[in-house]
Amino acid sequence: MCAIEAGKRGRRVAVLEHADRLGKKILISGGGRCNFTNLHCHPGNFLSSNPHFAKSALARYTPADFIARVEKHRIPYHEKTLGQLFCDRSARDILSMLEEECRAAEVSIFLNTKIKEVSRTTEFVARTADAEFHAPVLVVATGGLSIPKIGATSFGYDLARQFGLKIREPRPGLVPLVLDADDRSRYCNLTGVSTEVIASCDGQQFREKMLITHRGLSGPAILQISSYWRESEPIRIDLAPGTALTAIFHDPKTPRTLTTLRSEFRKLLPARFADRWLDLHPPASWTNPALADLEQQAHAWAITPAGTEGFEKAEVTCGGIDTDELSAKTMESRKVPGLFFIGEVVDVTGHLGGFNFQWAWASGAAAGRAL
Ligand SMILES: Cc1cc2nc3c(=O)[nH]c(=O)nc-3n(C[C@H](O)[C@H](O)[C@H](O)COP(=O)(O)OP(=O)(O)OC[C@H]3O[C@@H](n4cnc5c(N)ncnc54)[C@H](O)[C@@H]3O)c2cc1C
Repeated sequence: MCAIEAGKRGRRVAVLEHADRLGKKILISGGGRCNFTNLHCHPGNFLSSNPHFAKSALARYTPADFIARVEKHRIPYHEKTLGQLFCDRSARDILSMLEEECRAAEVSIFLNTKIKEVSRTTEFVARTADAEFHAPVLVVATGGLSIPKIGATSFGYDLARQFGLKIREPRPGLVPLVLDADDRSRYCNLTGVSTEVIASCDGQQFREKMLITHRGLSGPAILQISSYWRESEPIRIDLAPGTALTAIFHDPKTPRTLTTLRSEFRKLLPARFADRWLDLHPPASWTNPALADLEQQAHAWAITPAGTEGFEKAEVTCGGIDTDELSAKTMESRKVPGLFFIGEVVDVTGHLGGFNFQWAWASGAAAGRAL
């Protein structure tokens, strides 16, 4: 996106990509259909140590701008849920669109180009094993650490450190959570069970599906909350959002038995999970306070994950180049004129749902228009 915008403005642009093709993450995104933006994008959908930083770029390149591009290229798409836009056919359509626009903007693309070092005298010099690229400006768009097997590297962070820029510690985001051995033995033979919950921690909450995996918890609610989760903190899970599981016992004629309680839980939760959860959290007694306590526990089930599935499985990297180091308008370093950082390598991380691409497009456009 940055190369396209700069190329259209007549800049001579070289894209240096160490992989054998561009945009591998685009190809695997959104289950192969690329959730390329979100209709309801707003700054609250992003985590950053400075929540205001992303506002300017997001306002100057909106989902409507990207959708206009997609429509100009006649790419069929649809809204799946919650404003999430996906390609009807394949993520390849988005990559082809960007490659076509690069060609039209006369951007030169160098694949299999591994940069060994970058130095700066009067201009930037990027050296590979057998070539040197000289340019007055350098834009770092090397992404985060997620999914190393398709080419993620720490190059962007290393370069930032080399030039004395501060980094907010990178950590996996939008990532499944792993339970400790005890909780795994309690829940993980229910692998595949899924239910709608509200997952919360650190003052944030997400109402979406939770999925039990063979090592812990996943599903959109868990992926979303994982970006806010910190080691050794509990997450809280409301297993029955907006519904009172024990309301039936307000009727004095209802027998206060485990069978009745189970059947109430099974109305809202998958049966196997309802039974397991009740086996592990039986009511202390059948008094009103004990039932109220059970109700409360079911709406704020506290579970402390042992960790995450790590960068191997994380959809994004939280943290990155400290936004204090960059101009919010152009993404240029304040300390090192001519050095720009865009996309996921910056300490701006979107929620699940097309927001990370929207940040990549918007920050890329902001830099491209400033080069
Ligand atoms: C499985 C998966 C699914 C996803 N699905 C979605 C989705 O549907 N919607 C959404 O909004 N977001 C999604 N994301 C997140 C999204 O893909 C990223 O946030 C986005 O691609 C970031 O763009 P970027 O340009 O900053 O970095 P990247 O897309 O990661 O691109 C960085 C590029 O730099 C190259 N590179 C790295 N190091 C070097 C180096 N040393 N030298 C040269 N080149 C280098 C890489 O090969 C890569 O091509 C998904 C992520 C994953 C892992």
